[in-house]
Amino acid sequence: MKKIALLGSTGSIGTQTLEVIDENKCAEVETLSVYSNIELAEKQIRKYKPKLAAVVLEDRAKELKVRVADTNTKILCGTEGIISCAVHNNVDTVVTAVVGISGLLPTLEAIKEGKNIALANKETLVAGGCLVMPLAKEKGVKILPVDSEHSAIFQSCNGDSRTLKKILLTASGGPFFGKKKEEIYNMTPEQALKHPNWSMGAKVTIDSSTLMNKGLEVIEAAHLFDMSLDKIQVVVHPQSIVHSMVEYEDNSVIAQLSVPDMKLPISYALTYPERKYCGTKEADFFEIANITFSKPDTETFPCLKLAFEAQNIGGTMPTVLNGANEIAVEKFLKKEIKFGNIPELISDVMSKHSATLSPSLNDILGADKWAREAAAEWRPI
Ligand code: NDP
Ligand code: MG
Repeated sequence: MKKIALLGSTGSIGTQTLEVIDENKCAEVETLSVYSNIELAEKQIRKYKPKLAAVVLEDRAKELKVRVADTNTKILCGTEGIISCAVHNNVDTVVTAVVGISGLLPTLEAIKEGKNIALANKETLVAGGCLVMPLAKEKGVKILPVDSEHSAIFQSCNGDSRTLKKILLTASGGPFFGKKKEEIYNMTPEQALKHPNWSMGAKVTIDSSTLMNKGLEVIEAAHLFDMSLDKIQVVVHPQSIVHSMVEYEDNSVIAQLSVPDMKLPISYALTYPERKYCGTKEADFFEIANITFSKPDTETFPCLKLAFEAQNIGGTMPTVLNGANEIAVEKFLKKEIKFGNIPELISDVMSKHSATLSPSLNDILGADKWAREAAAEWRPI
């Protein structure tokens, strides 16, 4: 049984990780972290009895400390608190299920301490993959993908991507699949938050509607599987049954299929190389009946193109893409900018950045801060 740190325990991936653990007892929760949701954190502490729990917001951490004073769980706060959860002696695997670049520092610290990583938080690899992957190699730790597409690739190649000719990364197309640029320019947050196949946190749901999610996933795949971008092809597959495919030299294609349910990739990352039932239903192929594939429309969804551009430049440019996108999504959700402004903002911020190639951690954190500030100041013409 794994002993895990569950970073982001109150989110969509965090709560589904706990459902998987309830179902198949594949892990024990040694530590957990949240941003501010102490009501749910209290319930989780009483049920899973972790040694440590961290809350990012200091006031909320103080309140939680009072609420759980009768338990043996120690309460910490801030990023330092999350890092303490990630590197705790009892932990062998860190489930990084926080959202945004906030996952980067705890993940790096955990790798330094030799912890394996079950990684949901794609922004960590987009912003800092050039640091995370070499460090993981040096420390001999496994980065096990939780993102469904990357889990599918990992499963399809049995964890060994060295002989792959190509990755075929599937995309649902999001709620605006099939629409044209003019039709979606003024779409509201309420419309963008209605994903047809997946129920997820707000940030990743908006990213799915702009196709930035697929762009971030292309970069994530490039790092995880050490593939150049010309070997990663995005394939739109609206039914979300084929979670991704790999192609070999002889043009044989191997795919992983299942109903869309994040519990499956979460469970596989925790039980690898074994498999355990985790609550995911059987796929009924007579009911599914029809699976289709098409090319992504990058005219309508320029975010996907921007992600390729950023990764082609490399260095701190993907960090800037990610930072600008995080702020663009926040602004869109607050109705400060339109849906169509999201790629415009990111493109403008990227065009003002000259990338540092082979960046240090300080370069990455500096580029992220700069991108956020530039994005916050951005105004539509
Ligand atoms: P949610 O928004 O549902 O949950 C985010 C979690 O992180 C919550 O526990 C939240 O705490 C915590 N959190 C939020 N902001 C911060 C911060 N600044 N610092 C530390 N912790 C923070 O997100 P999801 O579960 O949907 O996504 C998590 C990650 O997994 C993302 O990177 C996403 O791209 C990726 N992913 C998600 C999928 C999904 O199906 N949801 C699928 C594939 C990948 P609180 O509740 O207190 O706010
Ligand atoms: Mg995904």
